[in-house]
Amino acid sequence: MFKRSIIHSILFLKCPQCRQGEFLEASPYNFSKMNKVKERCPKCELKYSIEPSFYTGSMYVSYAVGIAFAVATYVLLLIFDYASNPLTIFISIVAVLAVSFPYIGAVSKSIWAHFFFKYNKSIAKKVRNDSRT
Ligand SMILES: [Zn+2]
Repeated sequence: MFKRSIIHSILFLKCPQCRQGEFLEASPYNFSKMNKVKERCPKCELKYSIEPSFYTGSMYVSYAVGIAFAVATYVLLLIFDYASNPLTIFISIVAVLAVSFPYIGAVSKSIWAHFFFKYNKSIAKKVRNDSRT
């Protein structure tokens, strides 16, 4: 059931319409194809880009996701009692953001796409049945 949820689809970078096809050309950590969105979903043929530079707006999302990662890092430091020194906090947040920025960019594009494309139950069912045969 979780595999068909919108959270799974966003976090694992799946097609917003069928939630099964891959969304990116390659892994976010493949730097030569970094966060390149496929032209179409390999499963349901959904065109991922509805206009030129469609994914520029995902930059706003990536700002919010970056802040969320920074806050999560700070909360973890508080929980494990490492938040007494401001320099430790700063270095930890910078390190987390440096390591996770490819994934933040990818997940932001995924969230952006999920804003504009709706899940389609019948297409998802058809794609699932097609891949079984
Ligand atoms: Zn699809």
